[in-house]
Amino acid sequence: MLTAGQILQLIRNGTCRTRKELIEFTGLSRSTITDRLDRLIDAGYIHESGVGASGGGRPPSVLDVDATRRLMLVADLGASHVRAALTDLAARPLAEESAGLRIDRGPEAVLTWVRQAFQRLLDRAGRPAGEVCGVGLDLPGSVDHVSGRVIRSFLMPGWDDYPVGEAVGADYDVPILVENDANAMALGEWWTSWRETDSLILIKVSTGIGTGIVLDGRIYRGVEDAAGNIGHVRIRESDDRVCTCGSRGCVASLAGGHALAVDLGQGSSQDVVRLVQAGDPTAIARVQEAGRTLGVVLATAVSLLNPGVLVLAGDMAETREHYLTGIREIVYRRSLPYTTRNLEIVTSSLGDRSGIVGMAVIVMEHVLSPTAVDAALQAKAVS
Ligand SMILES: [Zn+2]
Repeated sequence: MLTAGQILQLIRNGTCRTRKELIEFTGLSRSTITDRLDRLIDAGYIHESGVGASGGGRPPSVLDVDATRRLMLVADLGASHVRAALTDLAARPLAEESAGLRIDRGPEAVLTWVRQAFQRLLDRAGRPAGEVCGVGLDLPGSVDHVSGRVIRSFLMPGWDDYPVGEAVGADYDVPILVENDANAMALGEWWTSWRETDSLILIKVSTGIGTGIVLDGRIYRGVEDAAGNIGHVRIRESDDRVCTCGSRGCVASLAGGHALAVDLGQGSSQDVVRLVQAGDPTAIARVQEAGRTLGVVLATAVSLLNPGVLVLAGDMAETREHYLTGIREIVYRRSLPYTTRNLEIVTSSLGDRSGIVGMAVIVMEHVLSPTAVDAALQAKAVS
């Protein structure tokens, strides 16, 4: 027999919009459906409103998720920026704040900013901390998403094995989710623009290179939470440049933003973007070449997974499509035509907000999952 949490999914995904549709679809009795809905309404997960398609007589009420009564707090940490948002339970931002802050300042400094930003966002929106039902945070490194600890990041000295989830969630007695940034960005782009396609690969090229994979609408993490680490595939082992991982010839050391900055005598990947935007021919040529280099590895990924869309995100998405052009050229040339027949290769539609949106979607899906909803209703009944 379906639980209240499972009934909520039928309402969320649009399968059933009224009590009558729920009774017909599930085969459950009217009294059972009423019991489930009463508990969901009482707990503020859904509300009944509006007017459904009427066949005469009193129009049936429409059931809908109540996204306004619960809040989520999410943060997106990059190598040199942080962004935090307060959202409703439909992942719509109510307040947002960002700052330039280097992640290599270490977990205490960065996570203190996040906790203070969360409090400022609640204050600005005039909402109490008690309405927060989930907290999420993504960062540019491999994360054990179950324990909320950083596994390893070459960009984040001092963060290895740090209990990020515990630190950032200490103020709230709610689920805390920690995720790799490219994974969060991939889900954010998929949720916002590509839900009609089953799978998407997002490549983030800023200082380094990260990849997020969405398969059948879910993040694919791999058995060690390490899926998508294509930045450290060694494609030119005789190269004399040493990568951040200690090896030589990694694709990140040839095509990442840091490598481009060094080659072009610049300080950061953002400086490279500025040069390209100003029309510097040397920078444009080098950026296109980097796109082609990464394209070699991406052709393999595309042939392996046959995604519907490849999204370029991060600083290199802002190079007026020059980096993207390099990727396109090689991926189409080196893949079987029917693998790429329906493949779109595009730049991120959310820009620097894809991480925060994706993180909000991750927390929303967790908080509204049948297991989490049934557990919350059980706890409410006991208390
Ligand atoms: Zn490497």
